[in-house]
Amino acid sequence: MAESILEEIFIKRSQQKKKTSPLNFKERLFVLTQDKISYYDYDAEKGKRKSLKGSVDVEKIKCVETVHPEDNAPAERQYPFQVSGSKEFWIIYDEGPLYIFAKSDDVRRQWIHKLKHVVSFNKDLAQKYHPCFWVDGMWQCCQQEVKQALGCQVLETKNGGFFSKGSRRKSRKPLPPTPEEPPRPQPTTSSLITVIAEYEYTPVSDQDLELRRGEEYTILEKHDVHWWRARDKNGKEGYIPSNYVVEAGNGLEKYEKLQIHMKRQFLFLSSQNKDGGFLVRDSSKAGKYTVSLFTKGLGHYNICTTPQGQYYLAEKHNFSTINELINYHQHNAAGLVSRLKHIVSNEVKNAPSTAGLGYGVWEIDPRDLTFIKELGTGQFGVVKYGKWQGQHDVAIKMIKEGSMSEDDFIDEAKVMMKLFHENLVQLYGVCTKQRPIYIVTEFLSNGCLLNYLRDTLKHPSAIQLLEMCKDVSEGMAYLESQQFIHRDLAARNCLVASNGTVKVTDFGLSRYVLDDEYTSSVGSKFPVRWSPPEVLLYSRFSSKSDIWAFGVLMWEVYTLGRMPYERLSNTEIVDKVSAGFRLYRPQLANERIYSIMTNSWHDKPEERPTFQDLVLTIQDLLYELQEEGN
Ligand code: ADP
Ligand code: MG
Repeated sequence: MAESILEEIFIKRSQQKKKTSPLNFKERLFVLTQDKISYYDYDAEKGKRKSLKGSVDVEKIKCVETVHPEDNAPAERQYPFQVSGSKEFWIIYDEGPLYIFAKSDDVRRQWIHKLKHVVSFNKDLAQKYHPCFWVDGMWQCCQQEVKQALGCQVLETKNGGFFSKGSRRKSRKPLPPTPEEPPRPQPTTSSLITVIAEYEYTPVSDQDLELRRGEEYTILEKHDVHWWRARDKNGKEGYIPSNYVVEAGNGLEKYEKLQIHMKRQFLFLSSQNKDGGFLVRDSSKAGKYTVSLFTKGLGHYNICTTPQGQYYLAEKHNFSTINELINYHQHNAAGLVSRLKHIVSNEVKNAPSTAGLGYGVWEIDPRDLTFIKELGTGQFGVVKYGKWQGQHDVAIKMIKEGSMSEDDFIDEAKVMMKLFHENLVQLYGVCTKQRPIYIVTEFLSNGCLLNYLRDTLKHPSAIQLLEMCKDVSEGMAYLESQQFIHRDLAARNCLVASNGTVKVTDFGLSRYVLDDEYTSSVGSKFPVRWSPPEVLLYSRFSSKSDIWAFGVLMWEVYTLGRMPYERLSNTEIVDKVSAGFRLYRPQLANERIYSIMTNSWHDKPEERPTFQDLVLTIQDLLYELQEEGN
């Protein structure tokens, strides 16, 4: 589980979906981690956390602020604050903020402070907010009757400049001075440069061009050092701040290096598990630094800058250099989980990538692996559980000779190493200098989802089942966004972590299997039961064929691991499915759940939803379930 930054019992106000529905206020245990605020049912007598009632992704938060207490508010509701967010967040919370009541102003201040800290790099932080509650169909502050109405008050700089008053921009990087004179039309040059946006930029004048992080732009003219004229992929032209973009070549390289570097740092850092150990490093946001601190777990702090260019980790402790800041926090915790006790070397002596001459970054030194026990046997042979460098749990696939087209796979492994997602089983590296070759991945202690459904889950709740589907859909939405096709999505190719999180594995691996029974659509091992007609008939794989397989996987979840089309043979399935026959509705699935499945089984691939759509649909359903349970 992610390390909790703060935990506190608060009162949470229910969402008022309809104007007339009564409001209720319930005690919930709130837990803030680096990426989520979760709230739980709470057993006050035993002082224990019970079931999860809901959660909000930190990255979707746009605003964290106090709220004026209601008129005649009871004593326990004197210190309210609000958390509101992006479009997805609005959908989840029925287009309203999450209202939370703290017991004291101090606790409220501590939470707001920490929350602002963790959201400080979020995109599109709000510049305006509603200082009073939304009650009975109206904002009490401005009497507007539209819930989505833009805030009526500009956010003050209360917290070291996270939200700056009157700021027109939504990005965290300071803008260069605006061009003095109006743009002069100039001939475009023939050697055009391509750049990639490192920050989002929202136009402030109609001559500006919007920038979206990660997208490419063509530079038409370097009007002055600060403002360049650029064209986006749709042919739209305008001015952009030059310090918001990097040249494509450099930029990409930089990101790749950074990712690999971070990865190494992570492996390294987690091997230095000493209380108070810390490390200063580049954050994933270019030009920003983070401090990673070991206490009971890992804490990450972004080093922030004030509008005056001073650095700070904690409010009210500003320094002109990062060195001074570190020096100060070596002696004072001042808001951090612990003071910075001893620096962890920045050198990554033992990381796999530098483990010997001739090793690339994806190569793991097999001498660093210890084998502990066998986990099972798959298409490529035995899979073992072991340790990397004696400390880190890993799963090691020992590839049986002749079972895989190894050179092609090794090439592809370089691509797969760059896929990082909470719901994908992480590839750590490969050992290719010996036979058999090894594939080293993240280890998930609850094993494969299919067995978990069949053997481990006894009386799953509706939320539990849907959450598994949500996990898979999120991992798959990431693959979809990377234009990576899985080709063999099924419950057997998902694994379950110790906390119940489901992660997708073996993505794209089927392309390297050397076994006709598996690769040919008429072979006995081909995943016929998970394949749509266009794959069965024409071998047309796409993210849409993954969607079909996802529908079948959902069916596996809701039947607790039954074999799809139990009584039919592969040939019968091909005939019947092509003719429109579909799996029945599992007993545990209601009509809405079943409609997600049937939509994934549309015979026309283009009519099926995308994974991105699915994530939203499932999240919606999940929040409804959670609200019902509230
Ligand atoms: P293959 O994909 O080569 O056919 P599998 O991935 O199915 O092999 O692995 C065989 C078994 O090993 C799985 O059923 C699962 O129980 C176990 N296993 C595989 N990878 C892991 C892992 N990363 N963590 C935990 N168990 C694993
Ligand atoms: Mg497998």
